[in-house]
Amino acid sequence: MSNCDSTSNTAASGRRSRSVRVRRMTDDAPACPECSQPLKSGGLVLTKRDEDGRRTCRSLWRCAGRHTWWQWADRPAEPLEVCPVPELFR
Ligand SMILES: [Zn+2]
Repeated sequence: MSNCDSTSNTAASGRRSRSVRVRRMTDDAPACPECSQPLKSGGLVLTKRDEDGRRTCRSLWRCAGRHTWWQWADRPAEPLEVCPVPELFR
């Protein structure tokens, strides 16, 4: 019979639980479709979507070349659209 004392040794060591955020990091940032510079997230804007009448957030994206884009936050697979009112989000 082996000794039961050894079981807890491995489990307790070396695993620190850090909160991991599933977020896009900077090196994974989308590029500006206009000038190919990396886009920076400009936050979220709550808007109404005519398509389905729902209030939905858009994520804003800005590049160093002052292009402003946005996309539906719940549809990350859809392409970026030109933000028609960039001056509102300066
Ligand atoms: Zn740009």
